[in-house]
Amino acid sequence: MSRSSEAHEVIQAALNEFGPELAVLTSFQREGVVIVDMVQRVAPGTRVLTIDTGRLPEATFDMMRTIEQRYGLAIERIQPDPAEVATMVETQGINLFRDSYPQRVLCCQVRKVRPLAKRLEGVPAFFAGLRRAQSDTRADIEIVDRSSKPVKISPLADWSADDVLRYTSDNHLPEHPLYAAGYTSIGCDPCTRAVAAGEDERAGRWWWETDEAKECGLHFSPDGKVERKVDVLLREILERASV
Ligand code: SF4
Repeated sequence: MSRSSEAHEVIQAALNEFGPELAVLTSFQREGVVIVDMVQRVAPGTRVLTIDTGRLPEATFDMMRTIEQRYGLAIERIQPDPAEVATMVETQGINLFRDSYPQRVLCCQVRKVRPLAKRLEGVPAFFAGLRRAQSDTRADIEIVDRSSKPVKISPLADWSADDVLRYTSDNHLPEHPLYAAGYTSIGCDPCTRAVAAGEDERAGRWWWETDEAKECGLHFSPDGKVERKVDVLLREILERASV
């Protein structure tokens, strides 16, 4: 069975199990566009969600418009809580992610993780374009991850980058303009760069971070418990934002 037939089987089984409340979550990289295409062919009108962090490159908005026109749908933009962003920027600066690993994770929590978790409440399952070959941290992803809430379905988990390129080319799918500029992974504008030949696919994300810096995230609360520094920072932001 071909890669795309297998992916179609996964998508069809998920649609049968979870019905019209299923959604596609994408940032409009090639994998996400492949998923949107496959799902819209089987179930036109399936919701497409994306996280608009407030720091996306303009080219991503161009891609959104292209996808909306091609499939005749309105993409749902998930946005962070304005009070949380304002408090974070006021207390930490707009580019806090450059200062330390905990501050980078804090920014991702406020702009991506928290708004996504809130939006996905009530959604039983969603499709994502993750592949095992993209990085070591993705090497063990499940095609249907039922430990995730909501259930996360990755129909392309076994695909190679070439499989994605072949499907994209065979089906004349639009491509994010930043691929032509040397990007292999596309996210927020200040945290993504083009990669050099031979570099890892994800090397252009948070490229300034070192493994040592990532080890420095632990803190001690007043009662002596170990806390991640990012949890301390996030608690402060949430407390100030709710005043
Ligand atoms: S990728 Fe960068 S700008 Fe985007 S949410 Fe994370 S730290 Fe913030």
